[in-house]
Amino acid sequence: MPGVRVRFAPSPTGSLHVGGARTALFNWLFARGQGGRFILRIEDTDRERSSPEMVEDILDALRWLGLDWDEGPFLQSERLDRYRQVADWLVSANKAYRCFCSTDELAAKRQAASASGKSWKYDGACRELPPDQFRARHARGLPSVVRFKGTRVGEVVFEDRIFGRIAHRTEQIEDFVLVRSDGMPTYHLGVVLDDLDMNISHVIRGADHISNTPKQILLYQALERTVPDFAHLPLILGSDRTRLSKRHGATAVTTYREQGYLPDPFCNFLALLGWSPKTEVESLSTDELIRQFSLKGVNKSNAVFDPEKLSWFNSRYLRNAPAERLLPLIRVELEREGLWKGEFDSSDRAWMLKVIDLLKQRVRMVSDFATQGRAFFTDDFEIEDKARRKFLKNEALPLLMPELAARLESLPAFGLEEVESALRAFAAEKEVKAGLLINAARALLTGKAVAPGIFEVMAALGRDRTVARLSGTSWLENEPRAGE
Ligand code: GLU
Repeated sequence: MPGVRVRFAPSPTGSLHVGGARTALFNWLFARGQGGRFILRIEDTDRERSSPEMVEDILDALRWLGLDWDEGPFLQSERLDRYRQVADWLVSANKAYRCFCSTDELAAKRQAASASGKSWKYDGACRELPPDQFRARHARGLPSVVRFKGTRVGEVVFEDRIFGRIAHRTEQIEDFVLVRSDGMPTYHLGVVLDDLDMNISHVIRGADHISNTPKQILLYQALERTVPDFAHLPLILGSDRTRLSKRHGATAVTTYREQGYLPDPFCNFLALLGWSPKTEVESLSTDELIRQFSLKGVNKSNAVFDPEKLSWFNSRYLRNAPAERLLPLIRVELEREGLWKGEFDSSDRAWMLKVIDLLKQRVRMVSDFATQGRAFFTDDFEIEDKARRKFLKNEALPLLMPELAARLESLPAFGLEEVESALRAFAAEKEVKAGLLINAARALLTGKAVAPGIFEVMAALGRDRTVARLSGTSWLENEPRAGE
């Protein structure tokens, strides 16, 4: 589609949350799939609630997700003159007017209406203010806002790309504020002017903005400009079917990054919040998402955020990703946990790749490499109680394990096959099941009841560490507490 220009326009009043990230992703996928442009705009006119730290958080989260923007970030706070200039023009063209009603007056009217069980919208008290009254109030320096002068007949109709035809009677739309008394533009004025000035072709945003759209269309019409296409995305709900919020757990994208989720599976998961691919396959790379994404595939019905599914996507991605790709991410985790310092040489690198391939089969998060895989990176690890209880109880083990260690120590080579046949031969000779030794070795070598194949573990740890851990006796002193 030629000339596709879309934007993501977050307000920096909090971290980038899952809903915002999904909006950004859909815009980005649409732009990338259509050969269009993705524009980033920061809607920071709410000076009290916006902060530069939040802008940074949002940019950081977008970068992590891989959602690169082609233009911007543009800050609304740097375009204030432009909004005021257009507001003045609207007033001079009799399409907007100054309103001197004070907050107290408006609150009193609203209260009176609600006392008699009616809803209230601005009654247009200042709409046709006679010029002498206007001048008198102006001369007294009374604070004023600029309100849009709406037409009172007919309908505003638009064809939403997802929700279909939406119509509103104009008489139901109040004369909304365009510029506040402190001179700051409202969301409606900022968003419409920016979308016009930035030549936005498609406004893709959350369904919570559907009710704002008729007002904005009236403003486009007043400015005598073409209205962009609108595509409102379904809401995201938590498992209890209420709108996703902190009550449902983490909502900030950066929290997921810290928890060890990876950007690709995270985007894959986000893409399915309200969009369905044409095929049954749900596990899609970012390139496949770009190829398949279309507004037609976006559903009207609300999406449900399922953390289990996210975790599944993440572990699947880890399992299938080449170790080379995971290495830099894991290295960050290891450094954070103090498990790796300094430079890698090429033999460290080769060893790390081997260990990553071993561990990635069982992890759900990148952080699991440092926790579940701790024993690969340090000798300072504990044997979990479950592993002790299940695998270290047998009374023959305190004698058998050091002997097995001695056997392994004397092997001419320490490859997979050598360690396996040595262990099996030793089990046969001692007339015990190989499983007894394998399970005990797993507990002593990894500290875990569940771990990768034991011979691979031995080969990866190498002879010295394997022998030291199997012959060590500290596990005998640390009996699990009673009742465990
Ligand atoms: N700043 C608005 C928000 O964060 C953007 C609304 C829009 O995309 O029009 O919800």
